[in-house]
Amino acid sequence: MGKLDGRVVIVTGAARGQGEQEARLFRAEGARVVVADVLDDRGEALAKEIGALYVHLDVGTEDGWRSAVAAVKRAYGRIDGLVNNAGILRFNALVDTPLDEFMQVVQVNQVGCFLGMKAVVPELADGGTIVNTASYTALTGMAAVGTYAATKHAVLGLTRVAALELAARRIRVNAICPGAIDTAMSNPARLDPDADPEETSRALDELYRKLVPLGRIGQPEEVARLALFLTSDDSSYITGQPFVIDGGWLAGVSVI
Ligand code: NAD
Repeated sequence: MGKLDGRVVIVTGAARGQGEQEARLFRAEGARVVVADVLDDRGEALAKEIGALYVHLDVGTEDGWRSAVAAVKRAYGRIDGLVNNAGILRFNALVDTPLDEFMQVVQVNQVGCFLGMKAVVPELADGGTIVNTASYTALTGMAAVGTYAATKHAVLGLTRVAALELAARRIRVNAICPGAIDTAMSNPARLDPDADPEETSRALDELYRKLVPLGRIGQPEEVARLALFLTSDDSSYITGQPFVIDGGWLAGVSVI
């Protein structure tokens, strides 16, 4: 028996990184998975490999969500879960951030999460689940990622409100707040064919050895296991909560 047997779950931004690991794990746990992304080649290849449905979806567009939801209903007839995972990050000091860049990040991270819930909830089975991907920066500040942090704080607000509004239908809504995770977002060498991502991983581990109590960067598979917990009945009495997965980074600072 898998933890998600028979459930239909949409994972956005699932072509790579944390979303990819969520899609793989959910499929292994018996879910009928929908891989949604803008990276069609990669998303289609993953869907083919694991036996999932691929849908092209730009999460910041209402039309995109409308056709994605229709395609899922056509293929599977129902929706039981949504993981709003797609996200982008831009580095800039607040005063140097062009408005276009600010709005681009808002469109994907914040509007994408809002539109996802708006489009999917009317079709979501009672007792279904939503997992929104926020961040460590939803709960604290971090210099140079002000736009990103603002959107991730907003994702947490949306999560809490949705949990309250949907509890009557036993739909549970929670948020994941990862610290530094070794994907292309934190380790862009993963996208550079000439780079050695394992070498940059080791350099990142060295950096996070000093910052993070557990002394290393996190792995996308570890985040996927948290998403599974929040999507399965193992978390049946949990809703409206942020779940920090950061190796202890947010616990505080050590002076010894
Ligand atoms: P990633 O860059 O590897 O993956 C992001 C995925 O989202 C990609 O597949 C990308 O194509 C997709 N995407 C981007 N814009 C999209 C759009 N408009 N519509 C649909 N898909 C889109 O990074 P990741 O680390 O796997 O990121 C997953 C989530 O985790 C994001 O929400 C990110 O903000 C969050 N997060 C990541 C970290 C980290 O350190 N990696 C930390 C905290 C939170």
